[in-house]
Amino acid sequence: MDINSKEAMVTLRGVNKWYGDFHVLRDIDLTVTKGERIVICGPSGSGKSTLIRCINRLEEHQKGDIIVKDTPLTNDVKHIETIRREVGMVFQHFNLFPHLTVLENCTLAQIWVRKTPKKEAEEVAMALLTRVKIQEQAHKYPGQLSGGQQQRVAIARSLCMNPEIMLFDEPTSALDPEMIKEVLDVMVELAEEGMTMLCVTHEMGFARTVADRVIFMDEGQIIEENDPETFFHHPESERTKLFLSQIL
Ligand code: ADP
Ligand code: MG
Repeated sequence: MDINSKEAMVTLRGVNKWYGDFHVLRDIDLTVTKGERIVICGPSGSGKSTLIRCINRLEEHQKGDIIVKDTPLTNDVKHIETIRREVGMVFQHFNLFPHLTVLENCTLAQIWVRKTPKKEAEEVAMALLTRVKIQEQAHKYPGQLSGGQQQRVAIARSLCMNPEIMLFDEPTSALDPEMIKEVLDVMVELAEEGMTMLCVTHEMGFARTVADRVIFMDEGQIIEENDPETFFHHPESERTKLFLSQIL
């Protein structure tokens, strides 16, 4: 299908960002269409986290346009709130509230942001905790769980807000090897259900099997983007080749 005929979920046009004098994002152009799964990879410090954090305004960009569905990302609090309703985010270090139980982590925003009644919020939370196969841990605290379990809770917590787009920032890179698969399995399932996903990850098996497009970033720029087959077997730029030779 012609890409232009698909609904754009996230559009970045000429996005630039600086940290002081440091030019961290340079002229980023990217469109993510509905149901598309995009993997972003690249060396440490290339701006991957900054890029996806800009999409839900955890970081502010200084130049260019970011549009989520029909809402432009501006300083208008209403726009920011609208965008955060559409966009879920999962971080490398889970970012669960340590003093709340798993269930409370999953109901907090529903109750306080969405004004969902507690009982209903708990039903939603339990359904999603069941979906990530962690319902039995609902009354434990994050510190009592393994890293893989905590990350699955973080994914369930995000899904409780019913997002249309999910952003992942290296969701498996803080995990012990034996726990990576249980988190990737959940992400694969989400992808199969048609979730629009933008994932920073170096899990190249995931990229190969799930991604519609792989994007390689270096020094704040998108250097190359392609379907996984072409990206892995016929990389165009020398920087991509060097990066792939280091991680594969
Ligand atoms: P990546 O996720 O690809 O490793 P980041 O987006 O985290 O890269 O960081 C890109 C660059 O911006 C790095 O050089 C990092 O040191 C710098 N950087 C990140 N956050 C800040 C910040 N809050 N202030 C100043 N520099 C930052
Ligand atoms: Mg990062």
